[in-house]
Amino acid sequence: MPAPQPLIEFAGVSKVYPGAGEPAVDRLDLAIAEGEFISLLGPSGSGKTTTLMMLAGFEPVSAGTIRLRGQPIEALPPHRRNLGVVFQSYSLFPHMSVAGNVAFPLQMRRVGAGEIDLKVKQALARVRLETFASRRPSQLSGGQQQRVALARALVFEPSVVLMDEPLAALDKKLREEMQLEIRRLHRELGVTMVYVTHDQVEAMSLSDRVAVFNRGRIEQLGAPAELYDRPVGAFVAGFVGDNNAVSGRVAGREGVNTATGDGGRIVRISVMGREGTVAGRCSDALAAELNLTPAPAHPVSLNVRPERLRVLGGGGAGGEPDGHLNHWPATVVDLIHQGDHWRLIAQVAGASHAVPWLVKLPAGAPPAGLAPGTAVMLGFAPEDAWVF
Ligand code: ADP
Ligand code: MG
Repeated sequence: MPAPQPLIEFAGVSKVYPGAGEPAVDRLDLAIAEGEFISLLGPSGSGKTTTLMMLAGFEPVSAGTIRLRGQPIEALPPHRRNLGVVFQSYSLFPHMSVAGNVAFPLQMRRVGAGEIDLKVKQALARVRLETFASRRPSQLSGGQQQRVALARALVFEPSVVLMDEPLAALDKKLREEMQLEIRRLHRELGVTMVYVTHDQVEAMSLSDRVAVFNRGRIEQLGAPAELYDRPVGAFVAGFVGDNNAVSGRVAGREGVNTATGDGGRIVRISVMGREGTVAGRCSDALAAELNLTPAPAHPVSLNVRPERLRVLGGGGAGGEPDGHLNHWPATVVDLIHQGDHWRLIAQVAGASHAVPWLVKLPAGAPPAGLAPGTAVMLGFAPEDAWVF
């Protein structure tokens, strides 16, 4: 059976702003399925907004093609693309009522007055603002204004809704409430959502799939759990969730070929200044590369999630030494109570250039014997450490 045609398709799309050296978006390929909630996640300046603006039709592409249902759309002006758009700043018309703002896209489309009334009522009900129809935007809270912007983007029943950091201006509690609203709307309407954010928690909470952007390119595209559990590189590991990383070199070719049983390989690496080696998993592709080049010359990084680290030794911290674990001496720098967990900051021995590592310990009684300055042993399984 042929794969279903994607609703939206970027094929080799680039954007070079006049006068800029580096492309803002660099040969982007991305297919988005109908009904999908996809987030474009990445640091500031990585090309997320530019990608969205090219899709919306507010920025021309420099190269490549964007297709909607298989048809190239570069020649179509924004209003002919039938996309709803919500920006970070609410961009409501201040002199119009809430109802007037929501009615605007319908008036632009020359919908009859009776139908406009009905659709505006429905759209405001969808975002739970029925009773606010006659207010001005200035008489609403930030969250309510953003819901008006959402209603305005949804009122003409677009096939796709594009959102660019729509919640960035809201405080944390309101932002989390609005995330639930956006999830509910996506569920109820089944509309395709393309959502831009620099907030990895937000992207993980909302999306079916997340595209991680870095310097105009997608580093990795996948379901939230996939990005977290199987990052393809140090950038994604560090951007999606907390990550500890040190650089080192592969210790020898013989260590490269231990299979993990789930498609990966275990390699041993040495870290400058630290005695002995530590083991971590690497992809088949990297293992193949390591087998080709003289392995010890190959610089790599070792990456471990903070919740995968265990405190094995040290003043009464407990934990049984375990044959399968990497052992790494460290010195406690700080121990911070975060309510639902403890954050232990520890400087790992040898990796002099490295920032202190973060260890997440379960909540409960304060871990004993972890005062700043205490020598401890950190342990982690090779399967839980990524070598990139
Ligand atoms: P993001 O939304 O991920 O923060 P942008 O798409 O806004 O990233 O920007 C990507 C790159 O393009 C940045 O280097 C930015 O400075 C540049 N850029 C964005 N908009 C313009 C513009 N209108 N003119 C020139 N350069 C721009
Ligand atoms: Mg942006």
